[in-house]
Amino acid sequence: MTNIILFGPPGAGKGTQANFLKEKYNLVHISTGDVFRYNIKNETQLGNLAKSFMAKGKLVPDEITIDMLSNELDKNSGANGFIFDGFPRTEAQAEALGHLMDDKDTNIAAMVALEVDDEVLVKRLLERGKTSGRADDAEESIIRNRIKVYYNETAILKKYYQKQNKYHGVDGVGSIEEITERLSDVIDKL
Ligand code: ADP
Repeated sequence: MTNIILFGPPGAGKGTQANFLKEKYNLVHISTGDVFRYNIKNETQLGNLAKSFMAKGKLVPDEITIDMLSNELDKNSGANGFIFDGFPRTEAQAEALGHLMDDKDTNIAAMVALEVDDEVLVKRLLERGKTSGRADDAEESIIRNRIKVYYNETAILKKYYQKQNKYHGVDGVGSIEEITERLSDVIDKL
């Protein structure tokens, strides 16, 4: 199995790139944001739990998120490998992911990070908000809050995976194809 964490701040382009990479490397793409949004739309118990946190640009509590991720792994037990998009976002989630990988006798091969400046992110997300219908993209203050949460709670994971020699940063500004190329260069060497 090859398991990759696609990392970066909100609006870095993780979802867009994951869609190309999953085809190219035959991996299952798990976007925790997408799973939450699906559950909100279908008014499930999980959706109701997640909704108020997401709307404010806050993280959904670890316990809820980790349980959800574990379920997604179970649903895809035959996978060749995974692209994790939006997970882990805290150190507790990273620890839990490590254990879940151990249980499957596999591991995280790499964290591949899209690096993009904050002001570019805000612009991209406001632009996306015009068509995405996402409540958390509609308002600049909520977008800025998500970026703040990223720096306060999530950015430390760079060090976490650097310590394991698994962190690979990639310039996230350029055309979609160029960026796919940069990510592929990293993945091909794993
Ligand atoms: P983006 O990367 O554009 O912020 P996502 O779709 O990945 O968007 O996530 C949207 C929201 O879903 C987050 O702001 C958060 O509220 C919730 N969420 C997604 N993944 C996680 C996670 N791993 N832990 C906690 N909350 C999460």
